Amino acid sequence: MGTRAVLSTWTERRDAGVERLERLLRALEDTDAQLSTWRPDSEVSRLNAAAGSGASVLSPSLCDLMRTLEHWTAETRGAFDPAVGALTAAWDLHGRGRVPSQAALAAARARSGWHRLTFDAGRCTLRMPAGMSIDVGAFGKGEALDRARAAVHATTSDGPPPTGDRHAAWLIDLGGQVAVSGVPPGTSGWDVSVAHPRRRETPVLRLQLPSGSLATSAGSERDLRVGPRRIGHILDPRNGRPADFDGSVTVWHERARAADVLSTALFVMGPEKGLDWADARGIAAVYLLAGAAPAPVVRASRAFRARFDAIF
Ligand code: ADP
Ligand code: MG
Repeated sequence: MGTRAVLSTWTERRDAGVERLERLLRALEDTDAQLSTWRPDSEVSRLNAAAGSGASVLSPSLCDLMRTLEHWTAETRGAFDPAVGALTAAWDLHGRGRVPSQAALAAARARSGWHRLTFDAGRCTLRMPAGMSIDVGAFGKGEALDRARAAVHATTSDGPPPTGDRHAAWLIDLGGQVAVSGVPPGTSGWDVSVAHPRRRETPVLRLQLPSGSLATSAGSERDLRVGPRRIGHILDPRNGRPADFDGSVTVWHERARAADVLSTALFVMGPEKGLDWADARGIAAVYLLAGAAPAPVVRASRAFRARFDAIF
């Protein structure tokens, strides 16, 4: 998915640790093989290629994923919407960036939005009009992390018997999103930090993460530039333009996929609406706003403060 993965584990037995890393890594690779649009042969790439030529039958796991994405698109009122492939293409967000003409933008908007595709959750079919495509950018990493977790915590009937201590601690860092399980010996959580919204190398918040996943969506980390103009890589699907918030938002959730989706949605909503929305739903989120002062302004939801009270 165009990102780097760092896997860490604690173990008392080398073979068990190596086996755990192997299982985690294989789950990440399998998810990448199914979802990545950087691969022409992935299931999602084939689905996108079939837009305009009738309904496609989804594999059970992709069908499950689509049900969840449909839920989040509705829940966030379209601030998160995976059916924005035509728009990310128009702005060339996965390339060097481009400001589309009015006509190109209008055409891309006409081919974007979940409400324009037909998903039959019972039959597991999906039909998209020509030119429409699913963009996995805002949920693929989270999905991969959830599947990695399931791969080491599920008891499998096939393969050799487990080598023991399978529930020992591990952390996966996909760049912008981490997931953990268990804690390093003698600690109450993994040390993770949230970076300054404009300077990725500068840690601003230091957190101890005992469980779940932390996802960050940041304006300037991966933004593109066309001449003097900054083009954010997160779009507001409702107007087809890059969201104008330029700080960062970090979400903690037990499920990595939810954290991933929610960080993107809250970025689009921005800190004013986003904090109300998160508070109304008990979501743990923190915004960092870069201003004139060297230290960014920190604005956290109630659930975030309750969970990470040590830093407030
Ligand atoms: P990152 O890719 O830096 O982890 P996000 O998780 O927020 O950041 O995902 C942003 C990516 O998701 C974009 O690069 C694009 O591919 C896609 N995308 C952009 N805006 C939206 C949106 N509003 N809803 C769903 N996907 C989006
Ligand atoms: Mg995301």
